[in-house]
Amino acid sequence: MKNKKVYRVRAKSLDSQGRGVVSFNHSMIPVPGLLPGELAQIVLYRKGDETLGRILSIVEKSGERAEAVCSWSQKCGGCQLWSLNYEAQLKFKQEQVARLFNTVKNVGSVLGMDDFAGYRHKVHASFGRDGKGRIIAGIYEEHSHRILPVTDCRIQDPRANAIIEEICREMEEYKIQPYDEDTGRGMLRHVLIRSGYKTGQIMVVFVVATLNFPKGAVLGKNLRKKFPDIRTIVYNQNNKKTSMVLGKDQETIFGPGYIEDELCGMTFQISPKSFYQVNPKQAEVLYTKAMEMAKLTKQDRVLDTYCGTGTITLIAAKYAGEVTGVELNRSAVEDARINAGKNHMDHVTFVCADAARYMEQAQAVSSRYSVVIMDPPRSGSNPVFLNALGKMKPDRIIYISCNPATQKRDVDFLKRYGYRIDALQPVDMFPVTAEIENIALLRRGREKHK
Ligand code: SAH
Repeated sequence: MKNKKVYRVRAKSLDSQGRGVVSFNHSMIPVPGLLPGELAQIVLYRKGDETLGRILSIVEKSGERAEAVCSWSQKCGGCQLWSLNYEAQLKFKQEQVARLFNTVKNVGSVLGMDDFAGYRHKVHASFGRDGKGRIIAGIYEEHSHRILPVTDCRIQDPRANAIIEEICREMEEYKIQPYDEDTGRGMLRHVLIRSGYKTGQIMVVFVVATLNFPKGAVLGKNLRKKFPDIRTIVYNQNNKKTSMVLGKDQETIFGPGYIEDELCGMTFQISPKSFYQVNPKQAEVLYTKAMEMAKLTKQDRVLDTYCGTGTITLIAAKYAGEVTGVELNRSAVEDARINAGKNHMDHVTFVCADAARYMEQAQAVSSRYSVVIMDPPRSGSNPVFLNALGKMKPDRIIYISCNPATQKRDVDFLKRYGYRIDALQPVDMFPVTAEIENIALLRRGREKHK
């Protein structure tokens, strides 16, 4: 910390990203990890075009500070709420939802987890070398191209952490080179590990420079011996300059090319490119709550848009008369159709299409659904979808979102069609991060105001 001036500051509040905010020379400076009321010594630094504070020491601690803290937290950036204890994390999320939807009265208490250790069942690591030339794997440090060898991440499935460590060891032994994005040399770029929560099955996807990876045979064999839960191994080729992990071409080299997991008493097959909730334990809580709010009966015709591998679609089919799932990703739709068969659901149809286009067509032929479920990506939905939805006039809309800001924008849009929020239910799908999952039940009529 040469020549860096040290300041003594007190945090006033948390911003929407969960960072402590201090007032400094007439401006507000975010200090990651600092909690409201805490007094600390900090230095200032620039990150991108933002000025931030870095904690040197905390002079007065908050009662909301977490006891166990990950040693990577200051650098990693993956867990924004690392310094808050779990109760305070839930309070933070509750307040965010209440502030954003400030006119809605009926907001349920955020549903948290009893134990969130190892909740991430989808884990990704990139390969590289450290300063001494040793092979390392981990995530990229925020806003940089440096790999942080976080092999003990506490929110990742510990089996995935152990597999990643073993891969690094084997790479040294068999001289498998990490892929270098700048030169295009080397072989192994990333690994993606997915694991079933109920079944324990593990999928290992090696992201390689070329599918011709002879040393992969011994690597795969050794891994399977050490980790017998590995059900399938896939090579995926990605030699493009991109931040996307997976490329287009892939080949299954061991097992069926997918794993299975169970949610709400049903079995789901998941392929490498299909979406599956990273926190399956809490996905069960989310889906159960969504079904409770939808109050489906055999009289209902349900449309589940952005349906992925058909998880919500098939769970809804337990209660509804007829369900249609719409999804853009072909591999997810293939999984969804197989999942319908696996669970003996014959009153379910899956359509591979852009959700907005499907909605427009369905609305034009006056295909009426009594309930529409939507679970779009972070960016939310779009006016084409929402206009068609409004004109379709379903009795209830269940909007599940991992980004309440875009959810709010879309719900506001639907007001012109008379839809109002009947109930909101936040669910903590991503403990220790600032991410918030939120279910909204919409009906036509008056919003229940405070
Ligand atoms: N409801 C599912 C998946 C939600 S993730 C579950 O809970 O598992 C969002 C899904 O929307 C992804 O599967 C993604 O492939 C899909 N998607 C993204 N854009 C889409 C679009 N324009 N039309 C239809 N589906 C889309």
